[in-house]
Amino acid sequence: MANQQNKLSDSDFSFRFMDHLLEGCQIIGFDWQYLYLNKAVIAQSRKTREELIGNRIMGVYPGIEETELFALMKDCLENRTSHLLENKFTFPDDSIGWFELRIEPVPEGLFILSLDITERKNTEEENKTLQAQLSQAQKMESIGRLAGGVAHDFNNMLNVILGYTDIALECVANEDPLFHDLSEIKNAADRAADLTRQLLAFARKQIVTPKVLDLNETVEGMLKILRRIIGENIDLKWVPANSLWMVKMDPSQVDQILANLCVNARDAIAGVGTLVIETGNAIFDEAYCESHPNVHPGDYVMFAVSDDGQGMSGETMAQIFEPFFTTKGVGEGTGLGLATVYGIVKQNNGFINVYSEPGQGTSFKIYLPRYAGEDQKSATSLPTIPLPGGNEVLLLVEDELAILNLVKRMLQKIGYRVLIAKNAREAVELAEEFSGDIDLLITDVVMPEMNGRDLSYRLQEIQPELKTLFMSGYTANIIAHHGIVDERVNFIQKPFSMEDLAGKVRKALVRED
Ligand code: ADP
Ligand code: MG
Repeated sequence: MANQQNKLSDSDFSFRFMDHLLEGCQIIGFDWQYLYLNKAVIAQSRKTREELIGNRIMGVYPGIEETELFALMKDCLENRTSHLLENKFTFPDDSIGWFELRIEPVPEGLFILSLDITERKNTEEENKTLQAQLSQAQKMESIGRLAGGVAHDFNNMLNVILGYTDIALECVANEDPLFHDLSEIKNAADRAADLTRQLLAFARKQIVTPKVLDLNETVEGMLKILRRIIGENIDLKWVPANSLWMVKMDPSQVDQILANLCVNARDAIAGVGTLVIETGNAIFDEAYCESHPNVHPGDYVMFAVSDDGQGMSGETMAQIFEPFFTTKGVGEGTGLGLATVYGIVKQNNGFINVYSEPGQGTSFKIYLPRYAGEDQKSATSLPTIPLPGGNEVLLLVEDELAILNLVKRMLQKIGYRVLIAKNAREAVELAEEFSGDIDLLITDVVMPEMNGRDLSYRLQEIQPELKTLFMSGYTANIIAHHGIVDERVNFIQKPFSMEDLAGKVRKALVRED
């Protein structure tokens, strides 16, 4: 055998053409020495010829004897077998290469043909990630559409229940037994309204009014409610960052995220424990984002909710954002909490990081893009006036009769004069015939034939100064651009209480712009 080895020279003429090959070619002797290698091997291994030729493979790659590759090479040397494998290789700088290796027995020992397939592997990985993201998005989308559709109709019915309960409550004395029963109906309907809001948020059909926010203030405003949610056995620590950057988002969405995360933390603690809410600024650069494909480089504001509860297994963690995924018993979990959080954060171009260990606790970190505009707060909203009424003339347009009648009764109860129309055509006729001025148009957004926005334009041709208050359960993108309502648009979200309505109507009437 030694004889055969001696005959082989690395500069042998017959081997020289191999330097033009893209594939690496190497021959390793029975004593594990490198006998031959072409130029491609030098490039692939990132080693010099001198480091390899004449040296034994275990000297060049300490620890190689533990690998599957070594076992196959040994098998080839001893049993004269061929092998084909894809081998993952970690270079000293921690970068990773993928090689397709063909191992063949040759008289001198073994021959390895190697092809660099790193690029193909990376593309495959990327495709897999993209595919997973796509199917997640599609699943969310279809469930969202379903939930959104149901929630919309449900909202209208709740509006009627809530509204008539409000009116009935006004008619009975506090000590009347009916008052108690009606209050219970109202409570239940309020809870149902919260649930539909949750569904609409999840389906991203909720109308939002983004404002420039200092998250420290928003969180502080929620602390009292959060303490009530988590109960007395859990200690809530609040750690606000100094000089926190601003974000632009609907404050009620921040509330919703906080409430959902705190409820989960409470459930995970189940007894005595600690919950920490903190805020901070964070900058992600290109390098970080390369290894985290769902993060875009830039400045972010972070807020985190952490608990020392039971934590999660990796298997659970992989599913937590899936709608309806819950590990809680029937009637205890809906599985919509985190799906909603995910929906809201996505809608605001942010992202979420989760850290959790079974038995150790869990930390949810929400990152929201820093608001790039001037650090000013949005125009201060008008003060709310308690059940403010008036004797102005209102034109109410709504295609759903139950709601039309309900809102009319509510408005009349507050003292307004109300003209009603079932559709845009009737509304235009009414406006043309009406002798006096109409002070405010209150209209549904989504109606057959002509939508609320077009109706308000049409009526402004008759009465240019006419103001409008839009009512809707969700957007259909007519007054809202991608579900976002401009702060200057007067808008009331269904279902609403008499108090909400009174406030919004007054606000719309006194508004100057
Ligand atoms: P639900 O709370 O209705 O089960 P969520 O979407 O809010 O639905 O949460 C989904 C699941 O994620 C929970 O059932 C639980 O298994 C897990 N989870 C969420 N938050 C935590 C947490 N803070 N600690 C441990 N597990 C959690
Ligand atoms: Mg939950």
